[in-house]
Amino acid sequence: MTKTKSPGASRYSSTCDTLFINANLATMAGPGTIENACLAVKGNTVEWTGPMTSLAAPPESLAGKVIDCSGKWILPGFVDCHTHMIWAGSRAKEFQMRLAGKTYEEISRQGGGIFSTVRAVREASEDRLFNLAKDRLTRFLHQGVTCVEIKSGYGLDPENELKMLAVAGRLGRNFPVHVEPTFLGAHALPPEFSERSDDYVDLVINEMLPRVKSQGIATAVDVFCETIAFSRNQTERVFRASADLGFRVKLHAEQLSDSDGSALAAGFNALSCDHLEYLSPKGAEAMANHGVTAVLLPGAFYFLKETRIPPMALFRKMGIPMALSTDINPGTSPVFGMTPVLNMGCLLFGMTCEEALAGVTINGAKALGLDHKKGSLEPGKDADLVVWDIDSPADLCYFVGRNPVETVMISGEIVL
Ligand SMILES: [Zn+2]
Repeated sequence: MTKTKSPGASRYSSTCDTLFINANLATMAGPGTIENACLAVKGNTVEWTGPMTSLAAPPESLAGKVIDCSGKWILPGFVDCHTHMIWAGSRAKEFQMRLAGKTYEEISRQGGGIFSTVRAVREASEDRLFNLAKDRLTRFLHQGVTCVEIKSGYGLDPENELKMLAVAGRLGRNFPVHVEPTFLGAHALPPEFSERSDDYVDLVINEMLPRVKSQGIATAVDVFCETIAFSRNQTERVFRASADLGFRVKLHAEQLSDSDGSALAAGFNALSCDHLEYLSPKGAEAMANHGVTAVLLPGAFYFLKETRIPPMALFRKMGIPMALSTDINPGTSPVFGMTPVLNMGCLLFGMTCEEALAGVTINGAKALGLDHKKGSLEPGKDADLVVWDIDSPADLCYFVGRNPVETVMISGEIVL
């Protein structure tokens, strides 16, 4: 990252609640960094960032609390914009079967695959699901995640989809981490609707969506558009019904084949299209024209041993923002935390460290429609930040399995 020149004339002489001093700052508001810097927090927002030389008085006279970072780095808290964090059951046995050379069909016949997760979620009480997800979210928080999207999609009937969203809501109320719940009723075709996928889509549209809307338990609607899931036409029906109810939409698109889902989603001004390994130039153009964020999920690519990477050159050429996310789920991306994903984004998808870090901060926030208040450290934005014990931001992409979190602040409160 390049160093930003000191802003010069502006001086900080206000008083704040918390003042971080002697820090290095990667605000992610732009490509630069500010070394030997300070950051002031007032209430739940960032009030000021600048070099130490901009302080008009001794730090102690400007703040209720002063935190000396001794040269450590401050970045915005990580935004994980695509997760399936709520599940029950284990797929570890299935992993062993895969390693032993069993095919997906053989695994399914022996009770594995996504429907084993659906079964376990349906059998689990809301409390049980909450406790399982609580453990996962705690681990994410300890790795510097301050905002997380959580999808339903393992209930696949009205009662259990609503149960999953209720758990997401409880997580948001019980954790300082900001939770964005997404309704993903059209994730897979439940076994009881085998050969009747249009009837299931009717159920999603006519019963689930209105109930999700009336309970106010999701902020967006997602669909898995793929040959093994829902067709482009079915996706369009769900999107139309969602838009009529005032939901923003997003899409699992072009992961295993080109279903032209991204162009469809762009037509609905989707927040994001996610996966995108098989995205066509036409789909990319539609995304660029509608300001849709590309959410890249190298964890699933890695775990499934895929070989085709998303069209990174197209994203860059067309100025499509690239977000990076764990896609944490028990079947295809059992990946805990963002630093492994930063490393995979760089090594598997060819991102630069700067691109990867923007992917887990400002562009992650963009993918959730939250970039006006999250994802970068700028005056007026939420004071969601992490102090990292690293020599440079690139360390977060370079090391695998190291967790150098020092301090986590969310909405102006030190939570870790
Ligand atoms: Zn997913």
